[in-house]
Amino acid sequence: PSDKERATNVARIKVVVRKRPLNKKELAKKEEDIISIDPPMNSLSVYETKLKVDLTEYVERHEFTFDAVMDENVSNDEIYSQTVEPIVPIIFQRTKATCFAYGQTGSGKTYTMQPLPLRASQDIFSLMQRTYRNQGFQLFVSFFEIYGGKVFDLLNDRNKLFMREDGKQQVCIVGLQEYRVYNVETIKDLIEKGNATRSTGTTGANEESSRSHAILQLAIKRSVDGSDLKPHRMVGKLSFIDLAGSERGADTTDNDKQTRMEGAEINKSLLALKECIRALDNDQGHIPFRGSKLTEVLRDSFVGDSRTVMISCISPNSGSCEHTLNTLRYADRVK
Ligand code: ADP
Ligand code: MG
Repeated sequence: PSDKERATNVARIKVVVRKRPLNKKELAKKEEDIISIDPPMNSLSVYETKLKVDLTEYVERHEFTFDAVMDENVSNDEIYSQTVEPIVPIIFQRTKATCFAYGQTGSGKTYTMQPLPLRASQDIFSLMQRTYRNQGFQLFVSFFEIYGGKVFDLLNDRNKLFMREDGKQQVCIVGLQEYRVYNVETIKDLIEKGNATRSTGTTGANEESSRSHAILQLAIKRSVDGSDLKPHRMVGKLSFIDLAGSERGADTTDNDKQTRMEGAEINKSLLALKECIRALDNDQGHIPFRGSKLTEVLRDSFVGDSRTVMISCISPNSGSCEHTLNTLRYADRVK
């Protein structure tokens, strides 16, 4: 198939679910695994234990269908080949794509997202060396987070950044560090550096990072004359977004004012994200980007020929039942 045909064959929006294994703590508490997965049918069931008025227990089954469902035996490599791998070649064809990890804190978002940009850049370099040899393509990396509605550069000392619109539907994060990269090792180092820079408060690293969205972007650019010299123009972009813990959006009744504000911001951004993806799916002309900082930042990745992958991460234990159902309902509505 031609590049164009191949591009048309990649779904515009793909929603997949990944279940992690029960962890030691859950096993020690003898928590049950309440998720059963039927990969050939792309379906999954949640068994929710409820109480009748007379306090006897009964189990309600909730069934969902997605583009793919991954159980606890599916490796990160398989996740890559089912989600991002088909998109990589079309980034060279002026496509922008975004891969999200959604789910409650501890459900496996970071575990799932971390290896994806490395695998993608491996494939990007290999395309540059084989298919597009000597055609002047260049790869750039940037890494930033959105915390409390503000943008911080993770590759430049958490420098606070501002956005500017150029009137041509292009958003620009003023002063965002972009590193030109020549190999996967450098990208790995940059990601480690960025992760170490992520917001960590007095309450501990995981606690705080669960309240921010981390956004890693791989941009393919090309010099105007096809040579390796400047200036270069954007060709395509691939963004990896490790979203804030979905349960944080419910922190709106917390005693602490700061936590409440952050919760409201997260809630707003996750709702706006859902609305934008739905608008994309329905080919609506108007996409409600302005609903949040997250969607504003992603504006140029949504307009035009774009691809979206949502990886919804779920915990299998009975104690997470409510959060798991919320995650699956969110994913269901995105689809
Ligand atoms: P989140 O980013 O959603 O808060 P993490 O990715 O940090 O969650 O995962 C929580 C814990 O569970 C980590 O210790 C991680 O290594 C482990 N984990 C998550 N998903 C898997 C998986 N599919 N297989 C094995 N361990 C996993
Ligand atoms: Mg995480």
